[in-house]
Amino acid sequence: MPDLSSTKHEHALMSNTPALQTLLDALPVHLAERTWLRAIGRPDHTGRYVLYWTHHALRADENPALDVAMLLAETLELPLIVYQGLSEKYRFASDRHHTFILEAARDLEASYAKLDTTYALHIDRAGHRHPRLAQLAKSSFVMVTEDFPIEVTKAWTERFAQSHWCPIVLVDTACVVPTRLVGQAYDRAFAFRDATAQGYRLRVDRPWPACGAKGVPAQVPFATFELHDKSIASVVSQCAIDHSIGPVAQTCGGSQAGYARWQAFRKKGLSGYAERRNQIEIDGVSRMSAYLHYGMVSPFRIAREAAADGAEKYLDELLIWRELAYAFCYYRQELETDASLPAWAVATLSKHDTDPRNCLSWETLARAQTGEPLWDAAQRSLLKHGELHNNLRMTWGKAILEWSIDHRQCLARLVDLNHRYALDGRDPASYGGLLWCLGQFDRPFQPEQPILGSVRPRPLALHAARTNLAAYQRKVDRAVAHPSPRIAMIGTGLAGLLCSRILQDQGLHIQCFEKSYRAGGRASTRVSDGSTQFDHGAQYFTIRDPVLQSYLESWIDELHVAKWEGTIVSIDDPGVFCDVVKMDRFVGTPRMESLGTHLSKDLSINFETEVSTVERGPSGYRLTAKTDRFLGEFDIVLWNCPPLQVDALLPPNCQWRLELSRVEMMPCWSVMLAFESRWDVPLDGAFINVNGGSLGWIARDSSKPSRSQTMDTWVLHSTVGWAQKHLDISKTGAIASLSEEAERVTRRSLPKPCVARAHRWLYSRPNESLPVRSLWDQEHRLGACGDWCGGPRVEGALQSGMSLAGQVLGSLHERTIKLRAAEANPSVED
Ligand SMILES: Cc1cc2nc3c(=O)[nH]c(=O)nc-3n(C[C@H](O)[C@H](O)[C@H](O)COP(=O)(O)OP(=O)(O)OC[C@H]3O[C@@H](n4cnc5c(N)ncnc54)[C@H](O)[C@@H]3O)c2cc1C
Repeated sequence: MPDLSSTKHEHALMSNTPALQTLLDALPVHLAERTWLRAIGRPDHTGRYVLYWTHHALRADENPALDVAMLLAETLELPLIVYQGLSEKYRFASDRHHTFILEAARDLEASYAKLDTTYALHIDRAGHRHPRLAQLAKSSFVMVTEDFPIEVTKAWTERFAQSHWCPIVLVDTACVVPTRLVGQAYDRAFAFRDATAQGYRLRVDRPWPACGAKGVPAQVPFATFELHDKSIASVVSQCAIDHSIGPVAQTCGGSQAGYARWQAFRKKGLSGYAERRNQIEIDGVSRMSAYLHYGMVSPFRIAREAAADGAEKYLDELLIWRELAYAFCYYRQELETDASLPAWAVATLSKHDTDPRNCLSWETLARAQTGEPLWDAAQRSLLKHGELHNNLRMTWGKAILEWSIDHRQCLARLVDLNHRYALDGRDPASYGGLLWCLGQFDRPFQPEQPILGSVRPRPLALHAARTNLAAYQRKVDRAVAHPSPRIAMIGTGLAGLLCSRILQDQGLHIQCFEKSYRAGGRASTRVSDGSTQFDHGAQYFTIRDPVLQSYLESWIDELHVAKWEGTIVSIDDPGVFCDVVKMDRFVGTPRMESLGTHLSKDLSINFETEVSTVERGPSGYRLTAKTDRFLGEFDIVLWNCPPLQVDALLPPNCQWRLELSRVEMMPCWSVMLAFESRWDVPLDGAFINVNGGSLGWIARDSSKPSRSQTMDTWVLHSTVGWAQKHLDISKTGAIASLSEEAERVTRRSLPKPCVARAHRWLYSRPNESLPVRSLWDQEHRLGACGDWCGGPRVEGALQSGMSLAGQVLGSLHERTIKLRAAEANPSVED
């Protein structure tokens, strides 16, 4: 058992930089025991300041890393810079996490100003993507940072260590007994409890000593981001992150909010914790995990105060289970593979991997649509509120195994769904809970069950039986915005559909209006004579955005989409077919419009309703249809139609009206042909670049997956230039002209078509998309999305929809917080 009262064995690990090491040795014991020199820098290294890079100790109180940095700066007589960078590249980066972190940054800005310490915040975003930390590290005498055991900060720290730009000092800011003193990973809580009992006895009650040092302000060599009272939603919208997961109004980031929650719990909940902690329908737990994850509150203070209140059970969870998980993550490299599970669990799970099960797609799980009421409510809690009661998380996690192909997919999904939505995602304690679901920290249970084998069962039905499900569902489905806004979406192209679905999934009510009889806009299909179908708009789509990958995989799993394996070529000279770059091309199945149909499920859409006016009334925007029918009154109006149509409906004072004039939508003629015999050309799709020609693209529609093979069906698209010149040509004229051109560029005669149709797209694609993904006027609560913002393709439209959803959720979050603050303190508003 390690000697937890001593720090001596730590020192043996330290490097041979005598000067710096001597300084670290001289630190007070409570700091020295949690500090180690990770990298020594170059031998001739000099520097102008001490740098403290903070990422998981976002607090200015009881922060050992800050104390170490301040003491080093004072002793070395160097100024101190505290740097916080918000990257777009951490895993599952989303509006939710970004907002939570920036709310903490706002508190830090104020706290460091009071301490007269230089605090530099950098936010990676459009036009501001710079390696600021590297820039600062190169001129720092030493970098102090938190010893956090989870990616991606762990990898970044290692990279810095390898760069030798400066010495790196790591400080454990998260655990009461420093993880390096624990010395190893434990796989049973009782063993960890025994090993650390003495360490906790020595430390839990100990007040955190004041640091006493004073930071000397430093000059930061770049413009730092000053938050003050800037809109966090607005800056977050400029970041290339997942905008489909909105901030959580009930859980604001920062030390102030964290300690306020702790105090409230200490007053009302801590004494009853032992009895009430497993009752998911009430707030029997502290809900501090997100604040602890980002180090917005001091775990030392929480433990000390819980100990002072004699809250033994709470302390056991906080110290033993939480710090057991920290030590596990610290000493184990692989946290998301079989290597993270005990051998017996891997063996039994592998044995049962082939048991029959009901596999569900990621999207079904993510959107809480399994049909199991308790599980779906748990998932909605994650989706809407970014939290999941820890006791229910275990039942939730084990159930995922029954819906996954095997235990490996289950583990990947546990990590994905938890880290993506939960504010405490990516925390070692989160890993601890997730791995417990698959047997870690546990023992085998007999008799063996299907699928789970000898992993401890926790059936949903049993958990539901001991729960007041209706009360839990009410709690989960409480309003997310205050007051809940009435939202209208005009147009249900792919952007509008995804935006509406995200808003609805996150607890908002939205009413869609669509002038056509179906959803999906230009990703559409024409059915002729009742059976012959043509994708006459979007031909295929590609997905490069990692945020959309999980959706794509689910659409494929659920057969809404499939890969099109057709032979695609380019024709630059008549009759010459050249290979094009290979890529994954996807289409809706059994037709292009299937994707829109899928996205429109569960939404409330008024079809065949063309909105013709949007007028500001005394209590909201009043929408009317072309038929003069009054459609309702709304607080927020969103558009997903081409810019000209938006312009015609837009209230005059909208801030982004001018942007609309910067986009021009271009026309395209689409000709649809069906042949009873196969047209003999060695291709299924071709980009046509023949000089002066009228055709831009041809495709064998029937070569796409799940299409009828009864006829050989083709879609021919004109170039924009030709369509502009022949806008008023008759349909027969367009069919004749483009068919003739198809024969000329392929040097192959067409068979006689049995079906020939033409469609003129007046607004087929934008000449150029706006440089922003969506438009949002926070003051007037008007927004727009579409491929003319996101990029002139299906993927761009989807990204635009996500972006607009993010802007709406972000602004509602800020509004809710302001209203709550005004209610709590009416005099401030006056
Ligand atoms: C010929 C053609 C070929 C294409 N090929 C490809 C391709 O191969 N790959 C690719 O990725 N993309 C392609 N695209 C582009 C792709 O189709 C679009 O980028 C995408 O579908 C645009 O979606 P959106 O959400 O912007 O809205 P849209 O599809 O434009 O939807 C707007 C919706 O608003 C509705 N609407 C308009 N006004 C009103 C009103 N006043 N009231 C109510 N409803 C209204 C419309 O009926 C429509 O349903 C192609 C497009 C065309 C036309």
